[in-house]
Amino acid sequence: MARRFVAPKLVVATHNRGKAGEIRSMLSPFGVEIVSAGDLGLPAPDETGTTFEENATLKALAATRASGLPALADDSGLSVAALDGQPGLHTADWEGPTRDAMVGMRRIQDELARRGVPDSDAARAATFHCVLALAWPDSHVERVHGTLDGRIVWPPRGSGGHGYDPCFQPTGEVRTTAEMTDAEKNAISHRGRAFRLLVEACFE
Ligand code: IMP
Repeated sequence: MARRFVAPKLVVATHNRGKAGEIRSMLSPFGVEIVSAGDLGLPAPDETGTTFEENATLKALAATRASGLPALADDSGLSVAALDGQPGLHTADWEGPTRDAMVGMRRIQDELARRGVPDSDAARAATFHCVLALAWPDSHVERVHGTLDGRIVWPPRGSGGHGYDPCFQPTGEVRTTAEMTDAEKNAISHRGRAFRLLVEACFE
C-alpha cells in the first residue's frame, strides 16, 4: 500500500520553471501547495544514478532532506532500441551545452543512419520514459514509471510539445507528439501516465 500525501506543502525538486508549473497545475485539484527547489535555493544534486528510478530518487531525497518537506522529482528520457537504449539517461546531454533539442534529434538520426537502420516502425522503435519519485523527510520514497512507445521519424515534424517531440511518433498515430495539442499529448504521454499513477497511489 502506497503512502498517502497529507501535508499541504510539497517541494518540486526541479530548477526548471516549466516543469514546476506543469506539476503545480496537475496537483492543484488536491489542495497541494507547491514550492520549487529553485525558489528555496536548494542545490541540484549530481545525477549519478544508473537508471531513471535512481536519478529521480536521489533528486527527491536531496530536496526533502534539505527542506524538511516532502519532495517530488522527475527523471525522463528517450530510449532508442536500435541504439542499444541510447540516449536514455543522457537524453538531455545529447542536446549539447546549449540544450538545443534539434542537436539531439539530429544526433539520433545520424547514429541510426551510420548503423544502416532501415526506415520502418519496428527498426526505429523508441520509448519515452518518465519516473516520478515522491520522498518524505524520513526517507520513505514512492515511485511510478510511465512510458510511451513509438518510433523515430525524420525529418522532424510539428511545433508543439518540447524537446524530442518533433521526431517521435507514438505507436498507432500518424502525428508526432509535436503535432498534438498539450491535452492530446498528456492523455497518452509517459509523463501524463506517470502522473495519473502517482495521483492514484498517493493523492486521491
Ligand atoms: P531531464 O529533464 O534531465 O529529466 O531530461 C529529460 C530529457 O528528455 C530532455 O532532453 C528532454 O528534452 C527529453 N524529454 C523528456 N520528456 C520529453 C517529452 O515529453 N518530449 C520530448 N522530449 C522529452
